[in-house]
Amino acid sequence: MLRIVNKKKFIRGISIIIAGLAIAIIVLVMLIKGVIYLFTRPKEDKNKENNEIAEMSIANTENTIPISSNIDNTKNSNNEVLNEWNLKLVNKDNAVDRSYVPELTEIDDGVKFDSRAIKYLKDMINAMYKDGIKSIWVQSAYRSYDKQEQLFNNKVAYYKREGKSQEEAERLAQTVVQRPEMSEHNLGLAADFNTVTNEFENTEAFKWLKEHAEEYGFILRYPKDKQDITGITYESWHWRYVGKEHAKLMNEKGYCLEEYIDYLKSSEQV
Ligand SMILES: [Zn+2]
Repeated sequence: MLRIVNKKKFIRGISIIIAGLAIAIIVLVMLIKGVIYLFTRPKEDKNKENNEIAEMSIANTENTIPISSNIDNTKNSNNEVLNEWNLKLVNKDNAVDRSYVPELTEIDDGVKFDSRAIKYLKDMINAMYKDGIKSIWVQSAYRSYDKQEQLFNNKVAYYKREGKSQEEAERLAQTVVQRPEMSEHNLGLAADFNTVTNEFENTEAFKWLKEHAEEYGFILRYPKDKQDITGITYESWHWRYVGKEHAKLMNEKGYCLEEYIDYLKSSEQV
């Protein structure tokens, strides 16, 4: 009995020693690893810090980084972004080809809008209704090239009746009505609200749009402080669809569409 007990004690003792040794070895290995880590870590962290600083300094230099990643991760370059249908730039220097006729969908009263964007226009107007703004309607949206031509010619005739020369009449008309192929209304992406006068600026609807239109992808296309860049006099009633991400970024940067396109192009060159 005694010998058995002793044997048991002996085995237990040996087991404890082996276990103790194993623990000691593990602790030792961990300590060594810890020491090695302590010596190597500062280098890694320093590199990491340097990388972060480099990234920050890139981010701080405006117009030098492609911003496509901000917009859509699937886009490889701003070139693709620039070719998006919703960013199409149309103005006196950028005519739209007459062959370009988007697929159109009619809003209730016969006014037409680009089928791809009409949902956002409707959502925006519905949201205004929900917020208690009932006095809002789309007076004009898509215009055919012929319709635009007619509007432009009417305006030229008006100035000629005022005694202006043909050249002067056309120049003046162009600041109010765009020539056909040079109007955003040919794209079906612009909506003129209510009375199509700057009285719109004093309405609740205008205040609402200034605050919320970007959430639906719309921008005030011809702001007061950008007349020299857009070449169009201030139009508080004319809102253009560009897409939510672009609208937000444009407002954030204070860019009109011309400036924003330039910004995307300059980013692309890097
Ligand atoms: Zn308009």
